Amino acid sequence: MQRFPVTEPPDAVLGALGKALDLVDFAIILLDPNSRVRFVNNRVYELFMLPADLIVSGWDFRTLLEHVAAAGWYEAAESDLPAYLNQRIASVSCGFTQSGIIELTRGRTLAFRCQPCPDGGRILTYTDISRSDLDAEMLRSHADMRFNIETMESQAAHLAALAESAEDNAQRAEAAKLLLQSEIAERRQLEVELRRMATTDGLTGAMNRSEFMAVGQRETELARRSGRDLVVLMLDVDHFKAINDRYGHAGGDLALQHLVTLLHAGIRNVDMVGRLGGEEFAIALPATARWPAERVAERLLTTVARTNIPFGDSHIAMTVSIGLAAQRSSDLSIEQIIARADSALYRAKNGGRNRVVVDELLAVPGVRT
Ligand code: GH3
Ligand code: MG
Ligand code: MG
Repeated sequence: MQRFPVTEPPDAVLGALGKALDLVDFAIILLDPNSRVRFVNNRVYELFMLPADLIVSGWDFRTLLEHVAAAGWYEAAESDLPAYLNQRIASVSCGFTQSGIIELTRGRTLAFRCQPCPDGGRILTYTDISRSDLDAEMLRSHADMRFNIETMESQAAHLAALAESAEDNAQRAEAAKLLLQSEIAERRQLEVELRRMATTDGLTGAMNRSEFMAVGQRETELARRSGRDLVVLMLDVDHFKAINDRYGHAGGDLALQHLVTLLHAGIRNVDMVGRLGGEEFAIALPATARWPAERVAERLLTTVARTNIPFGDSHIAMTVSIGLAAQRSSDLSIEQIIARADSALYRAKNGGRNRVVVDELLAVPGVRT
């Protein structure tokens, strides 16, 4: 197929294409058959915050990844980094189209895709899908929408006043008012939908991180003022990578959706489930003492472990680990309670997974800590 117009030399088209690729909102890395970098667009520098004067073309792909690692983007400990980089390089060299999610530090998430090229090279793309930017964008749209609705409501009120005062204009004003009101109703619905999108996780319907933190902070303050109890559970799926490896990303996604359905079914309406990261969830139990909260946690654990999720010809089974922390009088923020629930979760993982561990200072006989 002829891709270049005959009126322009291919070099000019390639030059323009190179510049245009700097404008797309995802990062592109083109590798030659020997895994050397042939081309990167500017987004690569922005995404990994590399110095602008760094010349990467001609580099071995590993050298580029080492610079990304040096910028502190990978979660792995320093001693695990070589193995992690080997894994990333292997996924690029295997010769199949690859796609997946890369979790970076600082709460960022990338959608990654690698495609083999006809010349034996690879084209890699990275799209930033961190939710925080999206959430902020949604919240802005939501605020705009509210402003819009309020303006329209004041117009409607004005028209209503006109309808009352001028007899002959009454009919026209009434018709305009009705029209406006139906538009307001439509936009209200849109506003509700926007708010829902800005505050919930698209995959599972749980609250997203920013919403959970905001609501959790309100609950923390309320509990302090009223002397009520507040318990936070941190929950992480055990060996979730193995579920992804065995059933693919779609299987993993389905498992997460089922998990949230089970969690919601096992708690009260006033309790809250938030998706804080990939397969990590927080549950806030307001006005709940530690004892009943432990029973809730154990029940959720058992329900998840007993559930088999139909997937194609097989079933997905999974277990979770749970860390539990109750608010202490010194806790001023939801982050403080989460931090302690998180370290209890860490101990649940180290203790063999599929278990509930309670924040250790509150340990009582009969409960594993
Ligand atoms: P552990 O028992 O120690 O928690 O092991 P793990 O395998 O669950 O370990 P880890 O928390 O490191 O792995 C989480 C994996 O979840 C890595 C990431 O690729 C995957 N993941 C994150 N978000 C999603 C998602 O939305 N869908 C799917 N399918 N996988 C995701
Ligand atoms: Mg996990
Ligand atoms: Mg995890």
